[in-house]
Amino acid sequence: MKLNFCSLSSGSSGNCYYLGNEFQGILIDAGISATSIRKFLRDIDIPMQTIMGVLITHNHIDHIRGLEVLTRKNNLPAFTTSKIWKSILSPKNKISIDCIREIPLQHRFHLAGFDIEAFPVCHDAPETIGFHICVNDKKITIATDLGHICQTAAPYIQAANLLVLESNYDEQMLENGKYPHFLKARIQSDHGHLGNHQTSAFLADIISDKLSNICLAHLSKNNNTPELVLQTIQQTFLERGIILNNQQQISILNRNIPSEVIRLIE
Ligand SMILES: [Zn+2]
Ligand SMILES: [Zn+2]
Repeated sequence: MKLNFCSLSSGSSGNCYYLGNEFQGILIDAGISATSIRKFLRDIDIPMQTIMGVLITHNHIDHIRGLEVLTRKNNLPAFTTSKIWKSILSPKNKISIDCIREIPLQHRFHLAGFDIEAFPVCHDAPETIGFHICVNDKKITIATDLGHICQTAAPYIQAANLLVLESNYDEQMLENGKYPHFLKARIQSDHGHLGNHQTSAFLADIISDKLSNICLAHLSKNNNTPELVLQTIQQTFLERGIILNNQQQISILNRNIPSEVIRLIE
């Protein structure tokens, strides 16, 4: 069985990730338009009919922009906690009852051949979750919006073979940038986003041979660049004497176009 991962879009303007094999797959978040999701899937040769559901991390628009149209036009079930559903559903954002699936926190459920567990992360939405997804002996963890890595989330992140972790802003760029003080404080807070140095330091603490793919995600448009993300992690690893083996790969996920397809099982 193959297992492929692709980020269709990652960043403060929209998030959507694909995970699947030749027969079935899932999406994580639908933060770009349904049209873009369908186009990007076509671009990487994934038939829409193989998508069995979409997992939703929280109610911010960069994670649900395409959800209503995607679920309606493709009759696609969407999975998140009851608290997050309450924060998403409104007279403006009507999702067909047939597509709504409630999932518990920290309790495995099964979808499209995957064992999936949602875990809580600290972020400024009514509730925000990450996903830990297991298939065969592979473990994938996705945590894209979190102000710090709390004790509950850390074990799910540490267990991953493929990790999608936010590296949202360069600390210096944010500090010197044009954002008003309250917004800077929000982003830097424990319920905001992870900065490049925070993410790199955490990764340096937890890295082991089993972590084969580090995907740095959810880059800010105004307060970060892919070059700074890469520089920061390389510098941190160098200072800590960490040398990656030739099976280990760092990817910086594109903001507006799909990433390369990562083949976890060939
Ligand atoms: Zn976000
Ligand atoms: Zn968010």
